[in-house]
Amino acid sequence: MGFTTRQVHADRMLNTPEHGGVHTSTSNSVLFEFKDAQGIIDAFQGKQAAHVYSRSSSPSVAALQAMLNELEGGVGALCYATGMAAISSSLFALLKAGDHLIVSQYLFGNTRSFFETIKDFGVQVTYTDVTDIELVMDAYQPNTRGVYTETVANPVTQVADLHAIGQFCEEKNILFMVDNTMTPPPLLRAKDYKASLIFTSLTKYIAGHGNVLGGAVIDTGLFNWKAFGGIKPAYQVADETQWGLTQIKKRGLRDLGATLSPQSASAIALGMETLALRLMRSQQNAMKLATFLDNHPNVAKVFYPGLVDHPQHFMAREQLNAGYGAILSFDLIDGIDPVAFLNNLDLVICATHLGDNRTLALPVAPTIYFENSAQEREEMGISNNMLRVSVGIEDTDDLIADFLQALNAEYFG
Ligand SMILES: *Cc1c(COP(=O)(O)O)cnc(C)c1O
Repeated sequence: MGFTTRQVHADRMLNTPEHGGVHTSTSNSVLFEFKDAQGIIDAFQGKQAAHVYSRSSSPSVAALQAMLNELEGGVGALCYATGMAAISSSLFALLKAGDHLIVSQYLFGNTRSFFETIKDFGVQVTYTDVTDIELVMDAYQPNTRGVYTETVANPVTQVADLHAIGQFCEEKNILFMVDNTMTPPPLLRAKDYKASLIFTSLTKYIAGHGNVLGGAVIDTGLFNWKAFGGIKPAYQVADETQWGLTQIKKRGLRDLGATLSPQSASAIALGMETLALRLMRSQQNAMKLATFLDNHPNVAKVFYPGLVDHPQHFMAREQLNAGYGAILSFDLIDGIDPVAFLNNLDLVICATHLGDNRTLALPVAPTIYFENSAQEREEMGISNNMLRVSVGIEDTDDLIADFLQALNAEYFG
């Protein structure tokens, strides 16, 4: 069955909601009663799967996890309160001082900031250019535990060589961690590139409506946790495909406590039903807008993987299905103040966030990347004047008209 068919029937089919509902209901209970005291003992000892206390698991969150796992083709998923919680808690759960990670130099700013934090805890990090497999291989050390990358990076849209990195990680038996926030299924299935763990901010395309925060980690089942070495004996439960997620759940979710609320889980599950429809529409708009901007004399450079002169255009064409995503960035020509330009946009909202139904724009250097040094921004390919656009689902002509009037406003005195 097709993607959207599966999406709109997933809750009903995977979770069989009470009373024949087509949605799992939002259940608020923090605690769960055991009629037989042996039941709570078995649950605590992991002999019997059961909800015990909702910081670790609850019915509404479990239902969303089942749907996310189905979406990415995994062996299990775990939700968190935000995308950052999913990333930070999971990495804290798996790594220890002395471990080394190869990390993309093109990262969402807060993720980059988090990698700086774990360095303070003794984890070694080498940032590298993930568009080039040779550089990734050069960064390998005997204590390397994994590679961490985004699929299409925000804001400059560099495309990671997932195919080659996946092969490399498989050969070395190290974790391949992919943040698939920018290109969720059906656009890109990270498991097809041998990802071990997939991270995603549910806040963005998956929930899609700018009204709820959430994050998740999905285990694709491809990684050999036995060879990883860092799983505590207590978490080496019967089926070894579950070892990693068990440790992430205990040390990451239970102990650090950034739990997704049942209300948020229900809102995300609803938003997810139209994921493919919204994504396809947004990326059609993005392609048209990128082409329009690329041809406008007041625009110096457009960064969008759909344009043939994008450095990884052909890699993007191979990895992405039916489009090139809905994030683009561009530089205005010298002499146009990006702040004045943004103030001239009427329909487009000046806001941070991406993957919304509405088109959003912001200046990136003085906002998201304000904490980075000029040299770090240069490494990431971010110019001082760069504007990022998260393209929404509006009617294309309305969007282009708004950019056209703002580009043609009087800027040169
Ligand atoms: C937004 C984002 C995150 C963090 O997600 P939150 O839900 O905002 O915490 C992580 N990675 C990428 C690529 C993002 O765009």
